[in-house]
Amino acid sequence: MCVGYQVPNGGGTESQGVSSQVPAAFRNFSLSQKERTLDELVRDKWLCATSDGRIGLGVRSFLDLRSWFRNNDVPACDVCNEAGLKANACSNESCNVRIHNYCLTRKFSQRRAERICPGCGTQWAERKHKQSF
Ligand SMILES: [Zn+2]
Ligand SMILES: [Zn+2]
Repeated sequence: MCVGYQVPNGGGTESQGVSSQVPAAFRNFSLSQKERTLDELVRDKWLCATSDGRIGLGVRSFLDLRSWFRNNDVPACDVCNEAGLKANACSNESCNVRIHNYCLTRKFSQRRAERICPGCGTQWAERKHKQSF
């Protein structure tokens, strides 16, 4: 028997689908297991229960996601050290320095700052809103 998380067919337009992405580990639990697990996750701050009874990502999940990004070789932005998703990549193929657009702007906005890669020293190519990911 299915318990919950069943997305009804039909009527769904464009922006549905996110809520149906249930982690595989949660799918096969019985309802009571699920509730207990949720309680534990909330208590341990993996999730947080909002005042209107919904469940959100807790503080720990955000912190854990960061280390997840690091552990899975998502390159970090060289400037702010956050996961460099949607960041600009160095034009040197063998260099994996990545910098966010907004970090680039901030970094290179100082007049005397050279527009070179902080990792390999290659001239940082101007790309007009092209992103590597
Ligand atoms: Zn950054
Ligand atoms: Zn580089």
